[in-house]
Amino acid sequence: TLKEHAKPPWLRQRAPQGERYEYLSDSLRDLGLHTVCEEAQCPNIGECWNGGDGTATIMLLGDTCTRGCRFCAVNTSRTPPPPDESEPENTARAIAEWGVGYIVLTSVDRDDLPDGGASHFARTVSTLKGLRPQTLVECLTPDFRGDLEAVQLLARSGLDVFAHNIETVDRLQKRVRDARASYLQSLAVLKAAKEAGVYTKSSIMLGLGESDDEIIDTMLDLRDAGVDILTFGQYLQPTPLHLSVREFVTPEKFEHWRKYGEDVIGFRYVASGPLVRSSYRAGEFFLEAMIK
Ligand code: SF4
Ligand code: SF4
Repeated sequence: TLKEHAKPPWLRQRAPQGERYEYLSDSLRDLGLHTVCEEAQCPNIGECWNGGDGTATIMLLGDTCTRGCRFCAVNTSRTPPPPDESEPENTARAIAEWGVGYIVLTSVDRDDLPDGGASHFARTVSTLKGLRPQTLVECLTPDFRGDLEAVQLLARSGLDVFAHNIETVDRLQKRVRDARASYLQSLAVLKAAKEAGVYTKSSIMLGLGESDDEIIDTMLDLRDAGVDILTFGQYLQPTPLHLSVREFVTPEKFEHWRKYGEDVIGFRYVASGPLVRSSYRAGEFFLEAMIK
């Protein structure tokens, strides 16, 4: 097991600063918005909030997940509290006032809800787009238990990017994700979203024991499913009870995968680096992907 204190220097965090960061941080509290960026103390906050018109991530549907993946530190319960019915409208209004250029809406998995929360997401998107159409919206979604109608309902809500993370290579799915998730189910979700004519995006964590060939196979499968944008980041063990890190992948190797993904596999855009997370500088990267 690689211990936390053995972290290589490229994983050291920097304190956030910058004019736009200060502005967004000040206005956040007044609006009662809760960002994953602040609550999870994400190390990328300075870069995300300052870059371009700013990118931030908001969590919908509460903080308690019906699943328990072995890499994730979120609280788990079979019966989380019911969703707040006024959340879509209130959140949309607050985001529109906040004025960030690119917003990522995400949630835990809500297997207890009939549509997995898809209509709740969709209402948030359509309300926000009605209030401030220029806000670019990405939804980083659960797999909705493979309910492709729920996927399409959300994909057609007016969002700009449909993101769903495959997380790891095929062989490691059972070890890493909850038993209700699967490689093929995630590919099916991404494919169904693509059929709605939106940009799609996925993410792979490295350092869980995957081989280079397995990474390439996963990229090929994602590209076959029509995925446009891919991100690679280092898996970090959130607590000693979670899966241990098998390898700290070097920045050079991350750069290799970025080039490989773009030049050989043909993704529109690949963001790859030790601290890259699914939503890392998502706004800037989306705009770059568009001009390609
Ligand atoms: Fe927020 Fe995601 Fe950027 Fe972290 S990577 S600061 S959670 S938008
Ligand atoms: Fe965490 Fe998502 Fe797995 Fe729930 S489904 S435990 S939020 S990774």
